[in-house]
Amino acid sequence: AAKQMGRDRFAFYHPEMNAKHLEILTLESSMRDALNRTEFFVEYQPKIDIHKNKIVGAEALVRWRHPKEGVLLPGRFIPIAEETGLISSIGLWVLQDVCQTVKRWQDSGMPEMNVAINISGVELVRPNSVQRIMDVIEKTQVDPSWLEFEITETTLIKDGDIVKLAIQHFKRHGITIALDDFGTGYSSLGVLTQYDIDTLKIDHAFTSGILAKDAKYESVIVAMITLAHSMDMKVVAEGVETKYQQAFLTDQGCDVMQGFLFSPAVAADVLETLIRNGR
Ligand code: C2E
Ligand code: MG
Ligand code: MG
Ligand code: MG
Repeated sequence: AAKQMGRDRFAFYHPEMNAKHLEILTLESSMRDALNRTEFFVEYQPKIDIHKNKIVGAEALVRWRHPKEGVLLPGRFIPIAEETGLISSIGLWVLQDVCQTVKRWQDSGMPEMNVAINISGVELVRPNSVQRIMDVIEKTQVDPSWLEFEITETTLIKDGDIVKLAIQHFKRHGITIALDDFGTGYSSLGVLTQYDIDTLKIDHAFTSGILAKDAKYESVIVAMITLAHSMDMKVVAEGVETKYQQAFLTDQGCDVMQGFLFSPAVAADVLETLIRNGR
């Protein structure tokens, strides 16, 4: 009887559920077209070394110039792309675009920097994904030592073994690895000892805790920085928005910062100009 009731429940019309479902279906089908029409584009958010007071890298972030809805941020479409598997094609497109840009920078004599690309766990666990990623790098002839792959803590917890092998492969080719959104995935700290990670990215949620001058957040951040440094990892703080946060993080020895206080994500040529002008 309960089963029968459960089945009947779905027969009712749920306007909210349908609207959400419709939006997902619509976005999904237009996302397929978007790849062919090159509606995606990549912006770069500068990463600043506070001690040297200069840009030492950038994070590549995908955007979608939607024909009807304007520019969409990844939060609107990446989760759907992950659910439908389209993330693999989008991820490879982003990678290729970034590699072409970085190759151009390398050929034009730009000073070396570290360009980070977000790699979705869904993308990484698909068969041959590592080979497909390496193919793009080879074809574009980019020097991979400028590249950093960002993998989220959640991905590590979910697909540890596959990710471990992938990381080893990338690192053999000189690509560095950052652990993204650190502190949000509820992993035990011990997980850090099992992977060859170069950079720890402190999640925005912790950085905004400093904004509130919340002593609890501040001590967690101090612990994260100490831990990372003791394991020879660099620390990047995300979402730095205020001078107070910057000063606090600097005092605690945070290496690199990223956030609206310095710059939002900008077009590749804008980043190039910022760097050439010594900003
Ligand atoms: P993420 O990797 O943690 O990227 C940082 C996000 O924080 C970016 O949002 C960035 O614009 C935003 N941000 C930077 N500074 C500040 C700040 O000072 N304050 C606040 N409130 N936010 C700041 P965005 O571009 O909307 O990207 C969101 C997420 O989408 C990324 O989080 C990443 O997980 C994912 N993503 C972006 N591009 C790609 C991609 O090419 N592939 C994959 N798989 N995921 C991507
Ligand atoms: Mg990231
Ligand atoms: Mg390097
Ligand atoms: Mg992050």
